[in-house]
Amino acid sequence: MVKTTIKTTKSEEIFAAAQNLMPGGVSSPVRAFKSVGGQPIVFDHVKGAYIWDVDGNQYIDYVGTWGPAICGHAHPEVIAALHEALEKGTSFGAPCVLENVLAEMVIDAVPSIEMVRFVNSGTEACMAVLRLMRAFTGRDKVIKFEGCYHGHADMFLVKAGSGVATLGLPDSPGVPKSTTSNTLTAPYNDLEAVKALFAETPDEIAGVILEPVVGNAGFITPDAGFLEGLRELTHEYGALLVFDEVMTGFRIAYGGAQERFNVTPDLTTLGKIIGGGLPVGAYGGRQEIMSMIAPDGPVYQAGTLSGNPLAMTAGIKTLELLQKPGTYQYLDKITKKLSDGLLEIAKKTGHAACGGQISGMFGLFFTAGPVHNYEDAKHSDLDKFSRFHRGMLEHGIYLAPSQFEAGFTSVAHTEEDIDRTLAAAEEVMSSL
Ligand code: PMP
Repeated sequence: MVKTTIKTTKSEEIFAAAQNLMPGGVSSPVRAFKSVGGQPIVFDHVKGAYIWDVDGNQYIDYVGTWGPAICGHAHPEVIAALHEALEKGTSFGAPCVLENVLAEMVIDAVPSIEMVRFVNSGTEACMAVLRLMRAFTGRDKVIKFEGCYHGHADMFLVKAGSGVATLGLPDSPGVPKSTTSNTLTAPYNDLEAVKALFAETPDEIAGVILEPVVGNAGFITPDAGFLEGLRELTHEYGALLVFDEVMTGFRIAYGGAQERFNVTPDLTTLGKIIGGGLPVGAYGGRQEIMSMIAPDGPVYQAGTLSGNPLAMTAGIKTLELLQKPGTYQYLDKITKKLSDGLLEIAKKTGHAACGGQISGMFGLFFTAGPVHNYEDAKHSDLDKFSRFHRGMLEHGIYLAPSQFEAGFTSVAHTEEDIDRTLAAAEEVMSSL
């Protein structure tokens, strides 16, 4: 049975207190539910496909701590490995063999990566990769796409999707114009726009960075030929192609979007899943490029907690679990059932909608679509999305609190969870 009301007294008390302690009461903006309105729920604990709030309500979770929880929250094998690792200490700040193990797993899995550097977040990975792109090519300009998010480093806060889109901040105060003047932007899926940028300053563009499948402007897939076209163009102009696979790495396929679409970039950023729920990021690529990083080369980048033994442990165990045969087929099966079901229900209940999924990543826009880029995504009915989001929450379904975020499933989600979610969606959409 689906629930129709939830009591969130404790969440309200805790969040009210938090607002006097931390900006917006949160440690990261989208968590505050600003774009959907209403009371955010305060979590107590998570397990498998479920989360429990401080009032004792249980929800089926489609956020998965924004991607890492692909094996389900608090997987017993990950927790056991962490307990064991914990006994050896929480941080070494020195080489440890766990780094070798995870590095080998990443290098084996991701086609573009011959060498990898671990950092602590996706933001750090993207920040560092940009420095490397510039150092390797001796060029300053970079092309990014409208609605793609590459973390909150200054030079990427231009048309940056995700929380920036959600909050309607076109940019951010505090980012000097001089910092973003070398950040060129183009609409996603628009190869002609990228060609035009290259034609304008052919010798100044270090490279192109993108989410090969977008998750930070809602879920948007690359049109046929787009990734291949970028590969050819960057080759032609002596520039680097960088896939930001912080979200798609080990999710779209074990080897990421580059495996799935068979396009190999020069460099790749990773995060989320490779930390198994602990703070991790990474960047990697061809050896000749990566060996420019200090101390092998002159490009400086460092980190007190980088290669942290607990984070490495959770990452290793998570990747081991993902290697089980059938993982990605299962993710694809249940996520397709969810995505197809949502679209069918929207149609039946008279709501314009479009969306889709690849493996365990999905999205639903309240617009007829098709959505090829961020401009298209902005045609979504945001008010309707907010009411849908709230309705689903009250039925025990936790979706990302923004139209401009992708959804995530895990191997812990069952067919029954999907059935329950679709039953809730039918009730909610019928009353929107
Ligand atoms: N790149 C992409 C594609 C992301 O989705 C994110 C985070 N959602 C980041 C970079 C930044 O990662 P982090 O939040 O770990 O800094």
